[in-house]
Order: sequence, then structure tokens, then C-alpha cells
Amino acid sequence: MDMKVCVLGSSSDGNATLLWTRSTKILIDAGFSGKEMERRLRNIGIDPCDLKGIVLSHEHSDHTRGAGVLSRRYEIPVYANHTTFQKLRYIGEVWERRHFDSHKDFKIKEFNITPLVVPHDASEPNAFVIRCNGKKVTIATDMGVYTETFIEQAQNSNLIIIESNYDKNMLLSGFYPPPLKERILSDFGHLSNSAAAKTLRQVIGTSTRHVLLAHISQNNNTPDLAKEAANKHLKDFEGVSVGLTHPFKCSEIIKI
Ligand SMILES: [Zn+2]
Ligand SMILES: [Zn+2]
Repeated sequence: MDMKVCVLGSSSDGNATLLWTRSTKILIDAGFSGKEMERRLRNIGIDPCDLKGIVLSHEHSDHTRGAGVLSRRYEIPVYANHTTFQKLRYIGEVWERRHFDSHKDFKIKEFNITPLVVPHDASEPNAFVIRCNGKKVTIATDMGVYTETFIEQAQNSNLIIIESNYDKNMLLSGFYPPPLKERILSDFGHLSNSAAAKTLRQVIGTSTRHVLLAHISQNNNTPDLAKEAANKHLKDFEGVSVGLTHPFKCSEIIKI
């Protein structure tokens, strides 16, 4: 049975990724308003009623904004670790809370989800390695620097969605105030284009066919620069297609 993946949108304005099989649909993050989440789902022919879970990576609003509305409106359980839930009061009540432990796998129907704690300036941010029907997808949208555990777990995923947040020169010469620049550059900020590409070099394996570059800054990066850096560092990896995610529209739908 195929698994399909579509990044419904990705940038500091909002992030959400849909994974689905014939019988189960789940969201990783729901960072657009409820209305916008519904619109993007319907655009690719998905009825929000069919969602079996919303899994949240961390409390930042660009990952959680629409989770409360969707959960209440369509009676969808929300999954997050304990510390993330504590910080999430502003999304309001959810239909059902399901806590996961950041060091333990959990399941939503046929999806097996491995949360990984990653360095980022949130309470207990997670990347996810998701296995389904023998296939593996890694989603790491906010990560200041990779960890050894991340490299081990993400190794040889069929699809890797990774942030390629900023071009270092654009960030340094850009208009952001120095403390914000420092935050982004730090190990608890975001991955630059070249850091993303170097991380990819360590996790791509013989089963890896697809890479999607995510969370591309609209102020400190361009899609072309992100792709150029990835292609430059990955030119010796054959058979891996590097695609983009977009702030305002869905990515291509990837079948795995
Ligand atoms: Zn983010
Ligand atoms: Zn974040």
C-alpha cells in the first residue's frame, strides 16, 4: 500500500505536512489558521473529517496555529509531548489530548512515529521519523543543528523533509536586528542552506529517493539559493530528487 506525503505549506508563516494511506490520514503540525488548513487540505482532495491525528512538533505558532480549531471542529486527537502541551494554552481546548514521550515510539493506526528531541528554541522540540508499510519518512523543520541520534534514526529514509532556512550571507547582510540574527544562527535556531545540505549528506542512503527543502525564509533566503546549495553538496548522490516546499501553496504529492 502506498504512502503519500504533501507539505501543505512551509515557512515562518506556517507549516503543515499531510501523510496518508488509503485508510489513514495524519497531519504533522497545523500551523495555518483553521480556515486556511481546511482550504489547503480540500485543494488536494482531502476532507478534514478524515484526519486521525494532528501531531505537533513544538509550540511555536507557525506549527500549531490551526490545531485547536481543527481538533474541535472535526473531533481529531492532538498528539504532543507533555512540555509542548503545557505551552500550548493559546490554541484553546482540543477535542482529545494524547501525550507522547519524546523518547518512545507511538502509533496512529498503521503509522509508527519516532519522536526525536532536536535543538531549537522551544520547550521540547521534536523531529519525527515516521514508518509505514516498510517505508520511512523523516520530518525535521526546526532544528538548530543535527544530533547524532537524529543522523542514526533518519538514516536512509525514503523521503527526507528538512529545513533549509537561510543563506548565511543574506542573513548577515539583511535587516534583522543582531539578537534575532544570533538566535537564528545559533545551535538552537535554524539550519542554513549549507548546514541542511551537509546534514543530508549524512542521512541519505540507497533507499532515499526524495528530499524536500522546507521552512525557507522569505527574508533571508530564496528557493533558488536553497536548491543550489543542496544540489552542489549532493551532486555525487544519484537518483535523489530535491524538491521545494512553498509558503503559499502545497508541495508536489510524493508517493512512497
Ligand atoms: Zn517553525
Ligand atoms: Zn520553531
